[in-house]
Formats: sequence, C-alpha cells, structure tokens
Amino acid sequence: MRALISACLLGSACRYDGNTKPNSAVQRIARRLEVTAVCPEVAGGLSIPRPPAERQSSLVVTCQGNDVSRQYLAGSRKTLEMARQTGARLAILKAKSPACGRDYIYDGTFSGTLTSGHGVAAQALIEEGLTVVTENIVEYCEPSVEHPVALMLGTGMSEIMSLVKVVRRIPYEDIPGFPVSAFPVEGHTFEALIGDIEGVPVVVYPGRIHMYQGYSDLETCALVRHAHRLGCRTVVLSAAAGSIDPNVVPGTIGLITDHINMTGCNPLAHLNTLSFVDSPFATIAGAYTPYLAELARASAKEEGIHLDEGVFAATMGPTYETEAEAHALGVLGARYIGDSTVCEVIMAAALHMNVLGFTMLTNTSGTTKFTHDEEVDVATAASDDMVKIIVGVLKKLGCAEE
Ligand code: SF4
Repeated sequence: MRALISACLLGSACRYDGNTKPNSAVQRIARRLEVTAVCPEVAGGLSIPRPPAERQSSLVVTCQGNDVSRQYLAGSRKTLEMARQTGARLAILKAKSPACGRDYIYDGTFSGTLTSGHGVAAQALIEEGLTVVTENIVEYCEPSVEHPVALMLGTGMSEIMSLVKVVRRIPYEDIPGFPVSAFPVEGHTFEALIGDIEGVPVVVYPGRIHMYQGYSDLETCALVRHAHRLGCRTVVLSAAAGSIDPNVVPGTIGLITDHINMTGCNPLAHLNTLSFVDSPFATIAGAYTPYLAELARASAKEEGIHLDEGVFAATMGPTYETEAEAHALGVLGARYIGDSTVCEVIMAAALHMNVLGFTMLTNTSGTTKFTHDEEVDVATAASDDMVKIIVGVLKKLGCAEE
C-alpha cells in the first residue's frame, strides 16, 4: 500500500525551527507501507530553518507578516504530483500545520489558536480524492494489548475464530447488558475470545443478537459497550445484507461507507443513556473511519478481491424487503439493505470508537425466491475473502508493542 507521509513525522529535520516531530505510531506503520516522505513547505522553496507561518483566511503569512502563499501553493502542487506519480490513496500528514494540517490549523495569530480548515497541501490532496489523516488517528487506531481491536462477526464469519491465539475466553452471560435468555444461531458461539491474530491484539465476538429476534436496540449494543470497557478503540463489524444493485454478484463483499437508520430505534434514546455515554447527542456523521476504510481497500486490492462499497440501510427485519422498499431506499442513497449493524455503530460512535464495517452481499434486495438458508450458504462460501481483508487490515495496523 502506497502512502504519502509528512517528512517531519518520519524524523526529518525539516520543520520551521530546524527540528523534527517524529511520531512513533506513524514510524511503525510506515515500515509496513510503501512510503513517500513529503514536506510541502520545503518542496515549495522555503528554507530550513524559516520563520513560522500560519494561515490567514486564503493567505499564508509568516510571523513577520510576509506573504508566503505562493511558496505554499507551489509545495502543494509538488505534493499532489507525488501522489499522482506514486498512486498513493492515503496521506498521513502533520496535524495543525498550515501546509499539512486537516480540519484544524493555526489561525494566523501565532498564539497557538486553531481555526477550522485544512492546510494548503492537505486541501489539494483531499480535492484529489485521497484519504488524508493526521498522526492522531494513526495513534488512536494503533492496536495494543491495552487497546485491542474488536471484531464483531456476522453470518458465515465464524472461520476467523480459528486464527485467534486465545489467551482468555469470556462467556457472553458474563457481559453486562447482554440478555441471559439469548442463545446463538447455528454457526455462532456466545463466547468472546481475547488474544491476537498475527500478533495484533484482538477481542473476537463470534455471535451477535438482533432486534428482529425481539431484543432491544440497547441489548444488541451490549458487546460494543463491553469492547469499549475492555479498552478497544476500533471495532470491525460484519453483517450479511442484500444489494440493491442487481449487478452485484452474491458473495461480493461491500465496504460500508455510511448508513441510513430505518429501524425506528436508537440505542442512545433511553432514560439511562448517560450511564454509558457522555452525551446522547453524539455525532454519527463520519462514524465509518475513512482511514480504516482505506486500509481495507488496499488489503482487498493486494488480495485480488473485488470490494464493492456503499451506504448501508438498516431495517428492523426479520423479513426481507419488498421491491418497493428496495427501490425507495435506493432512491435515498442506499446500496445495501440489512437488519443489523447500525445501532452498534451508533453506540460505537457515541463511545468515540473507530468503525470499519463490511457487509457480505448475499442476495439482491427486493427480489423473491430467496431464503435465509441460502443467505447463510452464500455468506459462508464468501467468508474466506472477508477474512483475508480483515487480516490484511490488522497486519497493516500492526501493534504498538511490536
Ligand atoms: Fe512537517 Fe508538513 Fe511542516 Fe514539512 S510542511 S515540516 S512535513 S508539517
């Protein structure tokens, strides 16, 4: 996987003060990627050292009041050119910088105040369609023994359990909020596995419960809350679903980029919500972490697996949708229809966890002559590909203790 990374994060002494700003999590992931180090300020012709500069609306000015916008623009063009030449789809750039920062950058008052917006080079890469992240997301997503990756598996995915080097097992009956009356469907077990896959710390939840079985939205999220209490910052979810596009071949894997919640439920709409999240008014936009999605795309490509992607609409189930419902949800922007996942994602987002969502596309939505048994068969047959992609993502994320 090719990526551009800010040179100062990798240890180059290219900062305005002649120093570097190495980041150990970025340096670790860089060893697993094909990296092109970039410094847009130096590429634009600025010297090392140089006066600090900050963005003032559309300009970039130094602390002495000199306009260096032209150099920043030239540096961003050269950085963009490197992205095109290398084919990189991911850029890991230094936060807050007027060249590299994304979302928040220094505001031109040289007081350490931040303003919303992107650095000049980051902006150019975002407009080009690259996934641009800062070192903060890389650090936050890096697995460790304290922060394992939670894997919550859907239909046909029990195979991944055989890859776990298990150090501890937790019966679901010991997980607070998980209904004691629940029993697993065929092929699932109700026992969380703690251990590692390829040296990456994980907690695997091989079976889930669904609202269509009569459980509440809150009960279906008990495993997410448990993973959060164990220290997990990233959760990978998989679920079987139908594809609205009839051209999608059953067995294809879909990357969930966003969702539409049509279940009529929300796990944060409860009297005791504040006992497990800091606010019920959680931001769900952006819940599906673009950084993780980019790692998934690269893993699929490396394995030669076609990865579809789109918006997942969740209904209550258990019935499959009508033709009219499939059409309506397609008009709304959905590509997949399933009956799980979104409440767990809402809970994960409210707990500030990163989410990577997959769906196993087992049928075409809104068609007849399809049974649950066929869905299970298709999902099981295609689970090899899903496992390869998930393991590929885990290997790229690595481990802080490696
Ligand atoms: Fe680092 Fe980017 Fe600034 Fe260069 S322009 S020193 S890479 S933050």
